[in-house]
Amino acid sequence: MLHASSLSKGFVGGLPIFHSIQYMGAVDVPIGADAGPDRLLAACRDTRPRSIVGMPNFLIHLAQIAPDIIGMSARDLGCECLVVGGEPGGGTPAIRQRLEETWGATACEMMGGTDFGVIYWAECHEQRGMHMVVPDHIRVESIEPGTGAAITTRPGAVGELVYTALERQASPVRRFCSGDHVEMLDDRCGCGRTGPVVRCFGRTDDMLIVRGVNLFPSAIQDVIGRMRPRTSGVVRVLADFAGHSTQRNLTILVERGEQASPDDDEVLQREIERRVRDALVVKMESVIVPVGFFETPGAKKVALTLREMPELPAGTRRDPAYAGRGEA
Ligand SMILES: [Zn+2]
Repeated sequence: MLHASSLSKGFVGGLPIFHSIQYMGAVDVPIGADAGPDRLLAACRDTRPRSIVGMPNFLIHLAQIAPDIIGMSARDLGCECLVVGGEPGGGTPAIRQRLEETWGATACEMMGGTDFGVIYWAECHEQRGMHMVVPDHIRVESIEPGTGAAITTRPGAVGELVYTALERQASPVRRFCSGDHVEMLDDRCGCGRTGPVVRCFGRTDDMLIVRGVNLFPSAIQDVIGRMRPRTSGVVRVLADFAGHSTQRNLTILVERGEQASPDDDEVLQREIERRVRDALVVKMESVIVPVGFFETPGAKKVALTLREMPELPAGTRRDPAYAGRGEA
């Protein structure tokens, strides 16, 4: 298993995952995202791992640059399974599809944290969502954010996960709000595991409230990701207001597809705004920027939200219907 999550930044992605892989009897190839894409791809070519663990946007980036760095397509490296986590993406259909297509491998998602252990949720090969994998150690509940009311475990219900440590001594943690927002899924799975099954769609820190509508940037990323190759799939949400709540229309910045022409920006903007409105019931202004405008994914999590407008290339088209519009 090639270790493509960070070995030194953050925590879960480093030694805890290294030890987990060894405990399962597999071999961890300890390169780490910190070593950079070139070394990871060279190790992938030389060791031919059956599996890679890493953050989803970074693994897509590795596949994109593989032909330039090692002269091979990621599909030809023979990886069978990608295990992704650390940021939203593995559960976002457009991102998962891209991972699986570019690597020719199955993508499974996992989620955890350092407050209680390492990985608490993991997806099996049925790929139907993440199973709770440590029920002996953690009691899990889900609540309605804001009110704290318990939510139903019926499929389709959404809530924030709350954990209680069952075995911890000296520093017990009770009803700890994880900040992870999930949808409860049907818990009957072909793999035979029991217990709750969830799909995480965002964290409290990422949630924006736009005219009273709760909105997670990962949902916008999914809409834009489905518009490849006209977009590169890369998007940032501009949250240039204090806190998480606004009464204004949001602005999103979308990278143009590699082969797309700036002459078609106006048509693309309209299409993006229509699709976002249809999918998420919010109005937005979209601004098109060149491919590669935003930092390529590396050892750090990809932040989908910007707190201020970056300097835009000369001639960037702003929609007069939105630009400068205040409270509406
Ligand atoms: Zn299963």
